[in-house]
Amino acid sequence: ATPTALLAATGRGAELGVLVRGPEVLESLRRVDTVVVDKTGTLTTGRMELAAVTVTDGLTGLPEHEVLRLAGAVEHRSEHPIGRAVAAAARERCGALPPVDGFAATTGLGVSGTVEGRSVRAVRPDGAAAAALPPELVRAVAAAGDAGRTAVLVELDGRAAAVLAVGDTLRSGSWRALHRLRGMGLETVLLTGDGPGAARAVAAELGIERVHDSASPERKAEVVAELRAAGRTVAVVGDGVNDAVALASADLGVALASGSDAAIGAAGLTLVRGEIEAVVDAVRLARQTLATIR
Ligand code: ADP
Ligand code: MG
Repeated sequence: ATPTALLAATGRGAELGVLVRGPEVLESLRRVDTVVVDKTGTLTTGRMELAAVTVTDGLTGLPEHEVLRLAGAVEHRSEHPIGRAVAAAARERCGALPPVDGFAATTGLGVSGTVEGRSVRAVRPDGAAAAALPPELVRAVAAAGDAGRTAVLVELDGRAAAVLAVGDTLRSGSWRALHRLRGMGLETVLLTGDGPGAARAVAAELGIERVHDSASPERKAEVVAELRAAGRTVAVVGDGVNDAVALASADLGVALASGSDAAIGAAGLTLVRGEIEAVVDAVRLARQTLATIR
């Protein structure tokens, strides 16, 4: 009855909105004791909006809308939710955006390019760069974090020009999903490329105790490896290109169907409805199915 039961469970999974890559995935699901979740686009909607702009007092001599126009031009080329938010706000406030030369995107860090002869970067304010910022920008980075938002540092010709605060909202099912997972005896872990402020705000709201912030794609995979080395059976839930390595290195990768092709390609399980609560249903299904087989 084993193959038949597995096949039936796979079909049942599809009804629940969970695409199972193969029968072995159900076995991994049954054994999972730790669920590691990405933040942006997974626990949150990923539909980000620009919430605040803080420019330096005179360092670059450019007014707010000019800095936003240049940053928006570069972010327009980014596929990241942050890029889309900044570009949309810039277009709305400044009209058509100028073209970009030499565009480059670094996963988990930000974007750069040349606009109207100026070199423009929009990036995560990391340790060293953040410490050397003018005080009003240091305060803007802190304020963004306190509000659960992501701070983006805009540099023009190598000088800090502004901090943008970008935020989105939790998906409606996130709270319930995480509480149900813990109710089933699973530990939940937040693993995000975002900074400590935004990470802590989301973790507090969802009752997640273990948090890893500011994680590059490689660091995400490392965290998963460390958990596995400590004897955990780990599922990773993510949506982004930046999650693909972590998904592939988990006992079980779970991707949102709304996510990137890289994430879906690296996953054993795809959540069709784009709802993380489907993971809970999938774990229950696997536990029930495999309990009846043995
Ligand atoms: P998450 O793990 O929450 O999905 P990412 O790994 O995609 O986050 O991004 C990590 C961080 O890198 C973001 O919080 C942001 O600070 C920075 N970043 C990524 N892409 C961009 C971009 N296009 N513009 C500015 N900053 C970006
Ligand atoms: Mg993400």
